[in-house]
Amino acid sequence: MAQKLLLLPGDGIGVEIMKEVEKLIGWMNSQGLTDFTLERGLVGGCAYDAHGEAISEDDMKKALAADAVIFGAVGGPKWDKVPYDKRPEAGLLRLRKDLGLFANLRPAICYPALADASSLKRELVEGLDILIVRELTGGVYFGEPKEITDLGNGQKRAVDTQVYETYEIERIVRVACDLARTRKHKVHSADKKNVMKSGVLWDEVAQRVAKDYPDLEFQHILADNAAMQLVRNPKQFDVMVTDNLFGDILSDAAAMLTGSLGMLPSASLGAPDTATGKRKALYEPVHGSAPDIAGKGIANPIAMIASFAMALRYSFNLVGLADQVEKAIADVLADGLRTGDIAQGGKSVGTEEMGASILKKLQA
Ligand code: NAD
Repeated sequence: MAQKLLLLPGDGIGVEIMKEVEKLIGWMNSQGLTDFTLERGLVGGCAYDAHGEAISEDDMKKALAADAVIFGAVGGPKWDKVPYDKRPEAGLLRLRKDLGLFANLRPAICYPALADASSLKRELVEGLDILIVRELTGGVYFGEPKEITDLGNGQKRAVDTQVYETYEIERIVRVACDLARTRKHKVHSADKKNVMKSGVLWDEVAQRVAKDYPDLEFQHILADNAAMQLVRNPKQFDVMVTDNLFGDILSDAAAMLTGSLGMLPSASLGAPDTATGKRKALYEPVHGSAPDIAGKGIANPIAMIASFAMALRYSFNLVGLADQVEKAIADVLADGLRTGDIAQGGKSVGTEEMGASILKKLQA
């Protein structure tokens, strides 16, 4: 049965890099490797220009009905002054909220050909393959109260609230453990149980969930130690699961071990449907709309293409095809092909040539 993909290229380079994914999908469909039906929509600044909202109700309906949403990037200086609730990012936040995307998956893979672009020594990062699983809809970014109070004596008091309930911890730890079973069977759960009550509950629930996965090596780690270990010996990690705040920081740190922003994919998953077992899902590169290079045809499409590979793997269970796409990326890099962001001053190719070369490797 045909599977529905909603493509939301968004703004800036989102439009250029999504075209390269469309070419891949066109080829896969033509070969009978996939049976994707494509829908398209607007999100971000372009949606605001067209509908006065960062995403229209119609496109939200398409997103809810899709088997997966493939998202480019949003934003740009043109929309800096639009009302706060209509700013480009509001479209992405609405998608995450309405699709219930509580699990954010950020792989940090260091392609051997790019190991010298890392800020760490080659031997520390070559072959690196970490997956950070971040809780995305709870914790201190959303907890109430969240306010700044004027104390009236020239001082103010700011409060953010870290809140987690059992079910929120349980479901994200299960996602991490399920994923570890498809990888190296190792999970680190990072929290600050030494100083935070939410950390105490996090660990209590995580340890209980881990008992259901006796085949995994499950280890607690304090989040500050996790940060240190990521830059000291990152290859000791396989899957790391953590809350929204620590995940935000640790996933950025892990990502930078691998070189450039233009290389980093991500996935955000919801809970499995009780009837079908299918999860709502959105796949997007980590980078933004890069207004400084938008329209020049020089953006790196790899993060976008690797995000699509994650969709093949996690939404459609097309693991072999996902492996092939990732191998095609590694192969073009090994051949020396580079876009400007990873060329380190050397010769570079444009978005289209990089996309076409990856497709050619796939076809070979
Ligand atoms: P950015 O990620 O867009 O760009 C940062 C730098 O990295 C720029 O120099 C850019 O040219 C470069 N870069 C990013 N992706 C690249 C790629 N694929 N190939 C080559 N170079 C690449 O971050 P920013 O400049 O801080 O933000 C620009 C806009 O994007 C802002 O409006 C911001 O709000 C938005 N943004 C959106 C998202 C999202 O859609 N998820 C994420 C981050 C930022």
